[in-house]
This record gives sequence, C-alpha cells and structure tokens, in this order.
Amino acid sequence: MSRRFFFDSPIVGNAVELTGPEAQHLAKVMRAKAGDEVTLFDGCGFEFTAEVTTVARSAIELQIVEQREVDRELLFELTLAVALPKGDRQRWLVEKLVELGCTRLQPILTTRGVAQPTGNARARLERAVIEASKQCGRNRLMVIATPQQVADILATADRITTRLFAHPGDGETNLEHAREPGSRTVVAVGPEGGFTPEELAMAEAEQWSRVKLGPRILRTETAAVACASLLACG
Ligand code: SAH
Repeated sequence: MSRRFFFDSPIVGNAVELTGPEAQHLAKVMRAKAGDEVTLFDGCGFEFTAEVTTVARSAIELQIVEQREVDRELLFELTLAVALPKGDRQRWLVEKLVELGCTRLQPILTTRGVAQPTGNARARLERAVIEASKQCGRNRLMVIATPQQVADILATADRITTRLFAHPGDGETNLEHAREPGSRTVVAVGPEGGFTPEELAMAEAEQWSRVKLGPRILRTETAAVACASLLACG
C-alpha cells in the first residue's frame, strides 16, 4: 500500500501538520504511530522523507527528515482535450491520464457531448488526481482545466503547439514528432457521438492533424488513453 501522502501547501520548515483525507488515510488505514517514516509530496515537484511525531484524531504531526526534487514527468507538455464520458468512466480516465504522465486534462464542450463536471464532481476528479499521484509516484499534479468550448480550443491553441485531433477513418499514426523534449502537444478527443461535420471542418481549417487509432471505434476514454500512451510510452 502507498506510503506516499499529499501535502497541499508548500512545505517550509521542519515540522508539518497533515490534516483532512490524507491524515485520515495515514491514521486509520495505515495505522501510523510515532516513529513511522513516510514520503510526503507537495504536487509542485518536491518529495520529502518525514517521520511521524504525534498522531491525533484528525491531524498528524511530522518532522521533515529530507527534501528532494524528484522528476517523474514527461519530457514534453501533454494536454488531452476530451469531451468527458459519463460517471465512473471520468474517474477511470483521470486515473489513467495521471499514470501516463499527462500534464493537463482540458474538458471540452462539444455539440454531441454530455455536461462536463462542475462543483462536487470536479472536486471528486481532483481527489482522483491525488490518489493516482500517490500510487504512481508523480510529484506534480495533473491539472484539470475549466471546461471550454471545442471551437475555442480549436481556434486558440497556439501554433507552436503540436495539435492533434482523434477521429476514426483516415489520419496519421506516427506521433513521434509530437513528443519532442521541451515541446507542447494537445490532443482532442470527441464525445461518444463523435465530432460533428462542422467541428471536423473547423479542425481542418485550423490545421489540426488527424490521428487514427486503428479500424475499430474506441470509447472516448479508451481513445484518450490510447493517444496518451502512444505519446507517453512510444
Ligand atoms: N460514433 C462516433 C465515434 C465516437 S468515439 C464516430 O463515428 O465519430 C469517441 C471519440 O473517440 C471520437 O470522437 C474520436 O475522437 C475517438 N476515437 C474513437 N475511435 C477512434 C479511432 N479508431 N481513431 C481515432 N479516434 C477515435
């Protein structure tokens, strides 16, 4: 089980107090006691070895033993712009994109899409980012951006970014050029009903490159994870 815990503000000084769900996890699930050693990470690139000093009902005090900057990120910036699927599939998608190293998930509003997460639903997805980061060793949190209209994303992504658009049918499969160290890539993935002819025409007019993922129709979340793994692990 994970010995990594997320600390949601910059760690300065030698003593920190862990509260909220992370303290509960450490106290109740891991049954922490004074003297135990754990890893804390701050979501901004640093991890820390820390020793538990006191365990209370809702707060745990720890002493920082060592600080390190540990980079487990991709060598390029990867944004997945996705018309999110419904319910549990959203959480699954977020978990896999974190594991694969995506920098950012940009929910997109499309003509055939369903409502995108707000309020509590969004908070649950942000919690899923933390859980997945604890498990996979990432020290930077994947950002979940505010939902935007697909037309705005298609028109405003700047031209130094590699812009890819997943759609069944014709398209390229070699994405080597989209993973250059230091570069930026955005991949757009449509809703279950697909992109409309107007959305496709706009992507073409804005010179997004079309990506194909084989002759079968994948679910939105599978297509997004397939694109991320082609880019992240290829
Ligand atoms: N009925 C829709 C399918 C939508 S699948 C249609 O025919 O367009 C949901 C999304 O996943 C698509 O909009 C596309 O972005 C992506 N996708 C699914 N299968 C794909 C494939 N074989 N190649 C490229 N993208 C695919």
